[in-house]
Amino acid sequence: MPKYLIIGAGPTGLGAAWRLEQLGIHDWELLEKTPDAGGLAGSVVDDHGFTWDLGGHVQFSHYRLFDELMDDLLPDGWLTHEREAWVWMRDRFIPYPFQNNIRHLPHDEMVECVCGLVQALKNQSDALPRDFAEQFERAMGPGIARVFLRPYNFKVWAYPPEQLNTKWLGERVAIPDVERVLKNIFAQKDDVSWGPNNTFRFPKHGGTGAIWRALAARLPQQRLRLGAEVVNVDTAARRVRLADGTNVEYEYLISSMPLDVLIARSDLATQYAADTDKLVYSKTNIVGIGLKGTAPEHLKTKCWMYFPEDNCPFYRVTVFSNYSPNNVPDAAKNWSLMAEISESPAKPVDHARVVEETVQGALNTKLIASRDEVTHTFFAHLPYGYPTPSLRRDEALDVLLPALAKRGVYSRGRFGAWKYEVSNQDHSMMQGVEVVDHLALGTDEITIWHPAVANGPKKKGPVPK
Ligand SMILES: Cc1cc2nc3c(=O)[nH]c(=O)nc-3n(C[C@H](O)[C@H](O)[C@H](O)COP(=O)(O)OP(=O)(O)OC[C@H]3O[C@@H](n4cnc5c(N)ncnc54)[C@H](O)[C@@H]3O)c2cc1C
Repeated sequence: MPKYLIIGAGPTGLGAAWRLEQLGIHDWELLEKTPDAGGLAGSVVDDHGFTWDLGGHVQFSHYRLFDELMDDLLPDGWLTHEREAWVWMRDRFIPYPFQNNIRHLPHDEMVECVCGLVQALKNQSDALPRDFAEQFERAMGPGIARVFLRPYNFKVWAYPPEQLNTKWLGERVAIPDVERVLKNIFAQKDDVSWGPNNTFRFPKHGGTGAIWRALAARLPQQRLRLGAEVVNVDTAARRVRLADGTNVEYEYLISSMPLDVLIARSDLATQYAADTDKLVYSKTNIVGIGLKGTAPEHLKTKCWMYFPEDNCPFYRVTVFSNYSPNNVPDAAKNWSLMAEISESPAKPVDHARVVEETVQGALNTKLIASRDEVTHTFFAHLPYGYPTPSLRRDEALDVLLPALAKRGVYSRGRFGAWKYEVSNQDHSMMQGVEVVDHLALGTDEITIWHPAVANGPKKKGPVPK
């Protein structure tokens, strides 16, 4: 019987296992249902030798501990890029952040956006916004909301913005500086978010998944059980049952499987069904397009692009071959695009047609010039893509997470804790690290309980070596 049982070999579960080893605690076991480590941060190589992430993954680290681990895992294995992001709309590219570059819009829409900003300034109020739609409309005005924020956010979240709370916003939506916006218009100046100080790095080989495979390889292999799916959790007996019928007992369970599935597969299913029903999520479809030749001039330095219009199904496309030449079999002869399409009951997606619609969307938005360039496509469906920060999310989490903890179950990570604002790779890995420290050393967990602190200035993170 391991003292610590971990579910999931994504960043959260691997982070927990790594920390236990660091603390000299070897009394643990990790169960992962798939044959590979990485979870949503994994990568795959398709039959044509193209590497794909499961959605464009970039390292946005808030923790020095995470940075140090990344350096250590892939010592010579990184490429550094400027974060060049754009919005494609009205048949043109507009640099990101959108609100600082509205001078690129058609004249009437630019005027609408500026008038909206002035209106927003006049209507400032201290009252808390009811929902995300009200938040962005009050912050940016009705013009930018109509032209960009409303259509784009529906495409990303797959739910109307009235159904989202505002808690997750911390660092995600900048409040515009009207003076700056006007200066940019009069000076005809691009005000971009990239540059030498705004860079990110990406593994040279193997996609984002290389990071997590390297971490899994560091751990004692006899304690990692791949292909082991947890089908039942008896929180009273502190025992899980696997798909092969075997049982594993534990003292503490650290789970990174989706919280709603964990509850549904446990002895708490009936008692907490109503709370679990309040959790909302969207699915993500990933479509990779393998292409002949090299990236065209207008995409040569771009990282990712946002697409608010309905002439394409995707909300974001990454020029994935720009992240590493090794993401394609031969960089002199191939390049690649990776599109993300969200899905929910409010925004259904036809899986039989989404690949074709994506290729057509790439033509409509001038990402590619002709179908003849396409060598092949790649498709992956993620049943859990984004943990939606819905209006009643925290009501559910405030009941479910403490109820589980009382029974020795610690649900952490992107879908384990269901907090979008702390659901990137760094946050997830640190949730794994911090819960171990909490259980073994009695320290407080920052990331899950204090997202604003986690997303504040970069911190060292706990450091027992
Ligand atoms: C489209 C998209 C884009 C993203 N972009 C970025 C980005 O740019 N930067 C960034 O840092 N992060 C990004 N992320 C987030 C990143 O993928 C997550 O932070 C990270 O993967 C979460 O780690 P996790 O371990 O909590 O969960 P997961 O990665 O989901 O891992 C959970 C693991 O549990 C396993 N599991 C589930 N159920 C069971 C079961 N019953 N039994 C056993 N095992 C089970 C799963 O197979 C999986 O391996 C993105 C995610 C998506 C979907």
